[in-house]
Amino acid sequence: MIRRSFIAALAFAAALPLTAWAEAPLKVVATTGMIADAARQVGGDQVQVKGLMGPGVDPHAYRQTRSDIVAMTRADLILWHGLYLEAQMEDFFHDLDRKRAVVAVAEGVDTSKLRAHDDYADKYDPHLWMSPALWRDVVAEVQEALTEARPEAADLFDANTQAFLAEIDQLEVYGKQVLAAVPENNRVLVTAHDAFGYFGADYGYEVLGIQGISTQSEAGLNRIGELVDTLVDQQLTAVFVESSVSDRSMRALIEGAAAKGHDVGIGGELYSDAMGEPGTYEGTYIGMLDHNITVIAGALGADVPDRGMNGKLSAGF
Ligand SMILES: [Zn+2]
Repeated sequence: MIRRSFIAALAFAAALPLTAWAEAPLKVVATTGMIADAARQVGGDQVQVKGLMGPGVDPHAYRQTRSDIVAMTRADLILWHGLYLEAQMEDFFHDLDRKRAVVAVAEGVDTSKLRAHDDYADKYDPHLWMSPALWRDVVAEVQEALTEARPEAADLFDANTQAFLAEIDQLEVYGKQVLAAVPENNRVLVTAHDAFGYFGADYGYEVLGIQGISTQSEAGLNRIGELVDTLVDQQLTAVFVESSVSDRSMRALIEGAAAKGHDVGIGGELYSDAMGEPGTYEGTYIGMLDHNITVIAGALGADVPDRGMNGKLSAGF
């Protein structure tokens, strides 16, 4: 009798690891807010996600802090973007890769879909989140990584992914609709750095960044002079600042145009490489892009819904 219950207890203990996952969420660390949001959407209550880069943080310049390293040491899974977005952490992640479950989610996307860049041989524009179509591929990579880390929850992750992808589809449709309502000669996006290339390709906008695809490159005076001429020649009246990049060179651009008798204003602040405050709509991927799409279309002359696609944007237009 005693022996039998001992065996039963052993069998119960052996079964524990299978059921324990329901109580202990996977610890996931993600670099950018956009990746952290994807992990939360796909993982639901099976994950506890820590995003390293908060609002206003520039991923091109970011270096891991001591507390980031502690969090990564304790994590079950680490998700970073790759494609040299986190340029200062590249070596760190390659080294960590040998010791822990580390996935560069953007590097799983088919490179034939990516924008190559003249200045960087064999490198691609890393700003994939600007295209809902490309972000769907990244979300699929996140799903794969989570499923590998916790195969028992595969069905849940799949259902969550499908729901999130449906929202991304809706965002894409909304973007096409309102951005196509901008008068054709106004479809030019002037920003601080070249983060909007995929956005421009998707929606048929010319994109002109003062700096290149990394904020670490120099913004030359020549480049500012060139852009001033473009603003004057094409009679463009709105430029956009970015939440994660200093607006100093944008001010120089506006002053340069003013000196030539052409008035240019700031069309709004865009979320280029970081999302809004945690806990707000703009602090989610959908909210971030809804904000960008609505601000751009509104400032360039389209009629846009007062508070965006879902009526949730904090600022009215
Ligand atoms: Zn960038």
